[in-house]
Amino acid sequence: MHVPLDSKRISMASEKMKQPIIWGNVIAIVLFHLLALYGLFTLPWTQIRWQTYLWGYFLYLAGGFGVAGGAHRLYSHRTYKAKWPLRIILLICFSISGQNSVYDWVRDHRVHHKFSETDADPHNAHRGFFFSHVGWLMKKKHPEVIRRGRQVDMSDVLADPLAKFHKTYFTWLKLLFCFVIPIAVPPLLWNETWYISALGIGVVRYVALLNAAWSVNSLAHIWGGKPYDKQISPTENVLVTWLTAGEGWHNYHHAIPWDYKAAELGPSSINWTTYLIQMFSKIGWAYDLKSPSEELIKKLVERRGDGTHPKWGSGKQGKEDQIGIGDGDKYEQWGAARELPMEGPS
Ligand SMILES: [Zn+2]
Ligand SMILES: [Zn+2]
Repeated sequence: MHVPLDSKRISMASEKMKQPIIWGNVIAIVLFHLLALYGLFTLPWTQIRWQTYLWGYFLYLAGGFGVAGGAHRLYSHRTYKAKWPLRIILLICFSISGQNSVYDWVRDHRVHHKFSETDADPHNAHRGFFFSHVGWLMKKKHPEVIRRGRQVDMSDVLADPLAKFHKTYFTWLKLLFCFVIPIAVPPLLWNETWYISALGIGVVRYVALLNAAWSVNSLAHIWGGKPYDKQISPTENVLVTWLTAGEGWHNYHHAIPWDYKAAELGPSSINWTTYLIQMFSKIGWAYDLKSPSEELIKKLVERRGDGTHPKWGSGKQGKEDQIGIGDGDKYEQWGAARELPMEGPS
């Protein structure tokens, strides 16, 4: 079955289109990475206090939870609902990660899912590892990304006063929670040196977490098996799962984006984010957790999988006929044509 789409035409024409480089971003990203490398090779690792290591690891996990559990699974995909105390925690954690505002993140991510691996995908992995990892942040957005981004319904995010607050004060929140507090705590509370804290916590920890988050768009769109849908680029990548506390089960996630676990299995699949959401659901701060039935997953594996699923794969390719890949509106098309729900129960 072939789906004729205008986006295919767009894809061809705009391949050659030049996207101007944003030099400010290039300089900032390169500088931070050079500083992080300098820190990695010169920091006196044996003299750093154990509390500082713990603090760095805590910030890494908290930032990861803010991205995965907040911007991604809550705001982008609405895979569960969260009461305001949890939304505050998630937005603080997201600020710790030092990325874009939650509004921009969600808009880009929704466009990414809807138009994966086309020119409208902000970090189109078909343009190579570097572009999907970090290069996309160094260039002006492709016109198609901007056009599709404007069409995304963001009313739910704007209706949330906390997300709106984050959008308005994003720069201050990022400064405060990604740099000022993380760097100030070790010298003030356990007499760490300011130098170690600034370089180790302010730079190395920040750059490590950024690269972990970026690896979902690069590594998990290029390398790994496709047990749930062999016709899309996202993969199951265990390394990314380790780096991101549960976001590397990306073939599954693109196949069923409305599952709060972003994976078939729960915390046992190295899914720290899922564990935390479940923990918060026990005290009622997270609720309406959406997840598909085992029957639906089995059907998906048998129809579209590449045969690598440990339980239902048995080395056989899914039976379903090929469908044109790389076409823009496939998201809606597949929702209808493939008789498998793209949206979760509301
Ligand atoms: Zn997603
Ligand atoms: Zn993706």
